[in-house]
Amino acid sequence: MSPHDRAEEDGPETLVSLDPRTGEVVGRHPVHGPDEVAAVVREARSAGEWWAGLGFAGRARRLADWRRLLVRRLDELAALVCAETGKPLDDARLELVMVVDHLHWAARNAERVLRRRRVPSGLLMYNHVASLEYLPLGVVGVIGPWNYPAFTPMGSIAYALAAGNAVVFKPSELTPGVGEWLAASFAEVVPEQPVFSVVTGFGPTGAALCRSDVDKIAFTGSTATGKRVMAACAENLTPVLIECGGKDALIVDEDADLDAAAEAALWGAMSNAGQTCVGVERVYVVEPLADRFVELLVARAAGLRPGGEPGADLGPITMPAQVDVIRRHVCDALDGGARAVVGSRDSVRPPYVEPVVLVDAPEDSPAVAEETFGPVVVVNRVSDVDEAVRRVNASGYGLGGAVFSRSRGAELARRVRAGMVAVNSVLSFVAVPALPFGGVGDSGFGRIHGEDGLREFARAQAVTRRRFAAVLHPMTFDRGSRTVRRLVRLVRLLHGR
Ligand code: NDP
Repeated sequence: MSPHDRAEEDGPETLVSLDPRTGEVVGRHPVHGPDEVAAVVREARSAGEWWAGLGFAGRARRLADWRRLLVRRLDELAALVCAETGKPLDDARLELVMVVDHLHWAARNAERVLRRRRVPSGLLMYNHVASLEYLPLGVVGVIGPWNYPAFTPMGSIAYALAAGNAVVFKPSELTPGVGEWLAASFAEVVPEQPVFSVVTGFGPTGAALCRSDVDKIAFTGSTATGKRVMAACAENLTPVLIECGGKDALIVDEDADLDAAAEAALWGAMSNAGQTCVGVERVYVVEPLADRFVELLVARAAGLRPGGEPGADLGPITMPAQVDVIRRHVCDALDGGARAVVGSRDSVRPPYVEPVVLVDAPEDSPAVAEETFGPVVVVNRVSDVDEAVRRVNASGYGLGGAVFSRSRGAELARRVRAGMVAVNSVLSFVAVPALPFGGVGDSGFGRIHGEDGLREFARAQAVTRRRFAAVLHPMTFDRGSRTVRRLVRLVRLLHGR
């Protein structure tokens, strides 16, 4: 049963979140309509002014209090993440460890990255002092997915708050409880004003947030919804940050450490039951190593078991509709000539999917070309790494990627058309707060995390201050006839040769 079905039973104004392992009710939440969303954004606007007025130091103190609270109650939130997504408890804990680290980095670095600083004023304006500052936008609307219901939206929320904005967050209909928990815990350390609020509901609630008076929307979700978000935001010229899906690949070069590559491929493909935007969905391995690599991967994958108990390797498929996508991808690939070396068509047993490793799948099959978002990985052999790079880059997506190579990892990484690439590991870039995160092409644009992630939630303001009158002053109607001629002569001398 989906939250929609439950909502109909409970009445149209209620959103019911369910445990995907058992179908049990986890929580009931209001469905906010456009008027309620507008009212929350209105309150957030004045709260944002108050929050901005605290300055970097005041905000950093509050964000540090929040970080400590999150650490203290990590297990409580982890249990809720488990209940709403079904993921294993340790995966939920790992997600929250990364949340805490990012929150720490954002609060600690906001002032250094965003505060006013002087920049060279240049030849023409030598008599001015030039400075640049990144000011808060006001209210940032955040729309998040369900797969990492705390980590993913916090990549926007923590950085937007640290940059001095108020935040209104619309969590996925599958994980509203996690969103509300985050906002309620923030309100414990910042009780004065609704600086961080949550609106709950289905797609239309997200659409209402896009059409509200927010100053920016940070969206994370599927490419199809990302396009709808952009279209809605276009109506008010509201800027958007779009973090969408991917079809990330791992390249195994001739001199790769095969054991390490197989271990990493398995984690990249199967952790969180494959429901990871930067999960490894394709592996391209050079021909001479292909058989050995597949052997190592099969040996490891065969031991993984999905289940609902805390110690299971993989949880369920959180979004029931995704099960059909996964089944179609596996079946299409097998019909097209791929072989399943782990799992089969029967591995799809809702709400669980057992690991599936496909080899030699047609490059145009959905399992290679489209986002699967399940514990399925395709391993295809290539004649050399040039062919691997060509195939990796043939995807319309360009989110993350990985390269296993002892001698030319950095060179290959640079050739991959993606926002982030891990060399001799997978997914490691998500856990480095100083690194920006985001994609190209169908994976979206804009960056969360790192310095770029802080600037994403700020507006650059340039200021010039005149210090003294210039000898040559061309921007006045009082300029003499020779002023511009002299300037042109000067420019020819300096830049014309
Ligand atoms: P969806 O695109 O279905 O939903 C994302 C969010 O958008 C949800 O909160 C959803 O609400 C909301 N929404 C739905 N319709 C609208 C609308 N018309 N206007 C505004 N908001 C709307 O994605 P999923 O939740 O299924 O998440 C999975 C996707 O997210 C995958 O493609 C995955 O790759 C991607 N992802 C990308 C990441 C990245 O950083 N690049 C990270 C994590 C996931 P509701 O749930 O109520 O429908």
